[in-house]
Amino acid sequence: MKVVETIKAVRNEVIAAKQTGFSIGFVPTMGYLHEGHVSLIEAARKDHDFVVLSIFVNPLQFGPNEDLDRYPRDFQRDEKIAQKAGVDVIFYPSVHEMYPTNMPMSIHVTSGVDVLCGSSRPGHFDGVATVVMKLLQIVQPNEAYFGQKDAQQLAIIMNMVEAFNVPVNIHGCPTVREEDGLAKSSRNVYLTNEDRAEAPFLYEALKEGANLILSGETRRSVILAELENRLGTGSGRIDYVDVLRYPSLEQSEQLSGKVILAVAYFYKNARLIDNYIVDIQEGEK
Ligand code: AMP
Repeated sequence: MKVVETIKAVRNEVIAAKQTGFSIGFVPTMGYLHEGHVSLIEAARKDHDFVVLSIFVNPLQFGPNEDLDRYPRDFQRDEKIAQKAGVDVIFYPSVHEMYPTNMPMSIHVTSGVDVLCGSSRPGHFDGVATVVMKLLQIVQPNEAYFGQKDAQQLAIIMNMVEAFNVPVNIHGCPTVREEDGLAKSSRNVYLTNEDRAEAPFLYEALKEGANLILSGETRRSVILAELENRLGTGSGRIDYVDVLRYPSLEQSEQLSGKVILAVAYFYKNARLIDNYIVDIQEGEK
C-alpha cells in the first residue's frame, strides 16, 4: 500500500493502474477509520482491481461553530486499518494541496437541502459537494463508495454526478452498527459513558417508527409524533427528526414508496445522526 500526498502522485498511481487494465474503486473519508469505512473499502475491493482511499478533513463542510479543530485524527492507526482492508493507495492531501488559493468557485446544492442536515447545517452540503467533485476529478475512479448512514449526502452526490455528467458509478453501502444498534461514527468517541449507554435509543426509535409504517400507518404526522415522543425521553436534545420520501427528500403527509426516517441528536460533545429507510410497497428495509 502506498501513501501519497499530492494530486499529481495519486493521478500517476491511477493512470498506471488503468494502463494495466485495472478498474478503480474509490472511498472518500475524513479518516479516524472504523468498521463503517472498512465495509466501504471491502465493497470496493470486491468490485475492483485497485482501491483508492482518501483521508481529508474538509474545512469547507464545517460551520464556524462546528468541530473542525477537534475532529478526531490518527493517521498511523488509519494506515494500519486501510492496509488490512486491502487499500492500494491512500490519498492524504493537506488543506493547501486541495485548496491552494481561496476557491474561486464552489458547487451550490439547490435541491434536497432545505431539510435534515441541509437546513440544520447551512452550507454543509455545498462544502461536501465541492470536495467530492474535486476528489472525483482527481482520482477519476470507475466507482465511488458512500455510506447510507449519511443518506442525504448520498442522495446529493448521486444528484450531483447526474447533474454534471460525471462518468462515475455511485455505490451506496448499508450502515454498519455497534452490537447495541448505535451507528458507527468517528464522532462516537466524543460521547461520555452515560451518553454512549443511552445513544442506541436513537436507532430503536427509528426502528419503531419504521415498524409502525410497515404495519400500515402511513400518516407522516402520526409517525413523526411517535418519534418525537420517544426521542423526547433522552437526556440530549433533538436537532431534527423527520419522515420524508427517499431519495427525493420531499415532505408528504401520505407516505408511500421509499421513506426515510431520520434523526440528528445533540449530546454534550457530539451531534449524532442516524436514519432508517423502509420501502412501503416492498414491505421491508
Ligand atoms: P466520514 O469519514 O464520516 O466522512 O465518512 C466517510 C464515508 O463513510 C461516508 O460515505 C459515510 O457515509 C461512510 N460511513 C460513515 N459511517 C458509516 C457507517 N456506520 N456505516 C457505513 N458507512 C459509513
